[in-house]
Amino acid sequence: MQIKSIQVEAIILTTLSIRNLTKKYGHLTALENFSLEISSGEFMVLLGPSGCGKTTVLRCIAGLTDITSGEIHIGGELVNKLPPKDRDVAMVFQNYSLYPHMNVYDNIAFPLKMRKLQKNQINERVQKIANLLNISNLLERKPKEISGGQMQRVALGRALVREPKIFLMDEPLSNLDAKLRTEMRVEIKKLQKKVGITTLYITHDQAEAMSMADRVGIMNAGKMLQLDSPQKVYNEPTNQFVASFIGVPPMNFLKFRIIREKSLCLELDDNTADKHNVEFIIRNLDVLYSNIADIGEEKIILGIRPKDIIFLEGDEKFEGFRLKGEIAYVESLGDESIAEIRLGQSSLKISNVLSKIDNFVVGKEATFGIKYDKINLFSSSGERIRM
Ligand code: ATP
Repeated sequence: MQIKSIQVEAIILTTLSIRNLTKKYGHLTALENFSLEISSGEFMVLLGPSGCGKTTVLRCIAGLTDITSGEIHIGGELVNKLPPKDRDVAMVFQNYSLYPHMNVYDNIAFPLKMRKLQKNQINERVQKIANLLNISNLLERKPKEISGGQMQRVALGRALVREPKIFLMDEPLSNLDAKLRTEMRVEIKKLQKKVGITTLYITHDQAEAMSMADRVGIMNAGKMLQLDSPQKVYNEPTNQFVASFIGVPPMNFLKFRIIREKSLCLELDDNTADKHNVEFIIRNLDVLYSNIADIGEEKIILGIRPKDIIFLEGDEKFEGFRLKGEIAYVESLGDESIAEIRLGQSSLKISNVLSKIDNFVVGKEATFGIKYDKINLFSSSGERIRM
């Protein structure tokens, strides 16, 4: 889809503010004290596993479900008591919900007809939005005569033609194949920036969230765990859940015992691992990470991204941690390969192995390095330890 470079009417920019929102369905708490501030024109993505409360957030904003407590402000106005039609919010769902008996033109025109706009005004707006989405040639067709990607564009057109204040999208790409999803996510982002509409987009696809969001909120069990730029969420995850949810393959976690002797050391917390293998012991940690000395814990979790583990040739000099392990598995994905290394009962995934693939022989022992600044530290309860 090509977004045409035509001038569209500026949509009034609007902030969206959710304050301490709680939503209960009987005994089930779907959202608990949930807060979110979205700036005018921002593309905000909520990311989280199935059932974490993402759709409930959208339904509360649109007024499709009553809230238990809290406040929702659109453009500075408290909308808690406003009916859905007066909130000026447009929603696009996973199933496009197009009217099958209407052609594309009438599907897009429908919300304007409901608002009783004049025929020439309706025509002008439909033509403009169709041109913007590059679907002008499809206006006479019925939904069953167009592809899934085209249906999605029609659904976007029908939502945007009203020129709403807020645009809510509920997993709008989930019905498309992988290639089309990747294309559409770029185009939706371009469209959003061009029109400048404040947008809240929800997904459980981390790649979609990372590529589209200005800021991304990671949710679990009705709570916001972290709200930051995609880069910050990737580089500085606030806890182990966020760390494991972002990045493919996900971050590796290894449990270590803290040994407080002359210097602070970490030893792999694995009784099956060879204790005499010095490669399992990380020494002089307090020099590097002064905060560890103060945390008062006995155990700690190291988080390491698969791309940050480097294969080392023999005694190659390396400024960082060294680990020795057995290569358990190598998976070839064409443009990259992923290997798994076993360390006692633990295992680690490495994702940048293609250039050294000949060294990755299943069953062979190998040495790996991790640069000091590539380590993430988590307490045994999974909270990030700032270094
Ligand atoms: P998914 O990604 O699967 O769509 P989600 O993150 O959007 O999930 P929600 O649909 O918001 O999750 O649901 C949050 C929780 O509230 C879930 O436990 C769900 O079962 C529950 N829930 C949602 N709607 C209702 C309802 N109408 N009645 C009772 N429970 C509900």
